[in-house]
Amino acid sequence: PTRPGRYKRILLKLSGEALMGDGKYGIHPPTLSRIASEVKELTEASVEVALVIGGGNIFRGVAGATEGMDRASADYMGMLATCINSMAMQDALEKQGVHTRVLSAIKMEQIAEPYIRRRAVRHLEKGRVVIFAAGTGNPYFTTDTAASLRAMEINAEVILKATKVDGVYNADPKKDPTARRYRSLTYLDVLKQDLNVMDSTAISLCRDNKLPILVFDLTVRGNIGRAVLGTGDIGTVVG
Ligand code: UDP
Repeated sequence: PTRPGRYKRILLKLSGEALMGDGKYGIHPPTLSRIASEVKELTEASVEVALVIGGGNIFRGVAGATEGMDRASADYMGMLATCINSMAMQDALEKQGVHTRVLSAIKMEQIAEPYIRRRAVRHLEKGRVVIFAAGTGNPYFTTDTAASLRAMEINAEVILKATKVDGVYNADPKKDPTARRYRSLTYLDVLKQDLNVMDSTAISLCRDNKLPILVFDLTVRGNIGRAVLGTGDIGTVVG
């Protein structure tokens, strides 16, 4: 897969943990505002930005289920966790003067619009940052799958999957100094080698619909811009 250099409409997938900073739980406001400022730079460069934020910094369904909860109930709690993160991100963006809308897959009218595809696209066209909350709205799914699904629905050119390492390596770069970064991979490479990009449901969905995924390191300031505006050779493209 090749990179177009610069993307016009993207979907940025952040895990809940990306909001924790150095903490062990919850939201770290300075980290949140740092990410918000990078998203703001994209909007200033006329990039249309949609966000999907996970909930793992607050609650994960699988973890709840292993402690004896009903899996579906635990998953709904996980989806609510994504709403908390989405509202936090909305607040951080609006503090910096960025117009945003939270669209939730689970209705909660007082705090978010219901997810309506056409409305999401309209918001993007008007330059608003759209935050998709509550995942897919279904238990047994993840926010990675929600990101793939929403990216397809809004015709995003790429999913930017934010991680803590600069793309996909042939070995763990923290342990093996000879580890090399792949500049690009196919979906099948990722599935066959069980590479840690996104879960297999999300990868399959991207593969079926030819949606590229760019895996990059969010912890380096400025990387979101480098990835989207094509100003640096960073990350790994899966396509
Ligand atoms: N979840 C779900 N359906 C979805 C999206 C999320 O049930 O479509 C639940 C699931 O329990 C998951 C939790 O929400 O563990 C938080 O999402 P995720 O684990 O994907 O967050 P991340 O790892 O990205 O922080």
